[in-house]
Amino acid sequence: MEAGRDASCVTVVAVSKTKPIEAIKELYDAGHRDFGENYIQELRVKQEALPKDIRWHMIGHLQRNKVKYIAEYICLIHSVDSYALAETIEKEAAKCGRTIPILIEVNVGEEESKFGIRPEEAEDLVRRISSLPHVRIKGFMTSAPYVEDPEEDRECFSKLRDLSVDIALKKIDNVEVSVLSMGMSNDYIVATQEGSTMVRVGTSIFGERNYS
Ligand SMILES: *Cc1c(COP(=O)(O)O)cnc(C)c1O
Repeated sequence: MEAGRDASCVTVVAVSKTKPIEAIKELYDAGHRDFGENYIQELRVKQEALPKDIRWHMIGHLQRNKVKYIAEYICLIHSVDSYALAETIEKEAAKCGRTIPILIEVNVGEEESKFGIRPEEAEDLVRRISSLPHVRIKGFMTSAPYVEDPEEDRECFSKLRDLSVDIALKKIDNVEVSVLSMGMSNDYIVATQEGSTMVRVGTSIFGERNYS
């Protein structure tokens, strides 16, 4: 999970939502350790069934009343987009005696996506969260809109990179800006060209999802 700024060092989070435990185990046996899930109920079942050295990433929208189910083991919460959520993470992390690493989710595309803060809100939110002792900001996350041509998402990714550079320059105590979680199956190449250190790839690893 220690993704540096070196573009040659990109962490691949295998997004296993809707996929069976056996599919995760197969990748685990091949040596992969970073897996991402969107739904708490599903994450709980998989976490219990699978080896404990898996690094689980919560990448989906997280409701405050669900934080308690993952606080003990979650490796990184990518989707923090409010101070209220960070406060709940603080409370649950303190109960477990740990500090939980998080990313701030930013909606740089500014399309109708429901989640993520606006870029201009980022600094203020980062400053407020930085005072919580059991929460540790590691960087930023964004989901670009689904597009046919991934080039259309390039600006989205470069905007998040620029934002992270701006905030890194402020040198806020207790805040690290080492992780940029951006890029999915259709656009991870463009995302890494624009500075991503962590890509979240589901379909290209596990095949199409079947939600029925
Ligand atoms: C499902 C999901 C992914 C993976 O998407 P693919 O297109 O299957 O690679 C990445 N990030 C988030 C937030 C997701 O919900």
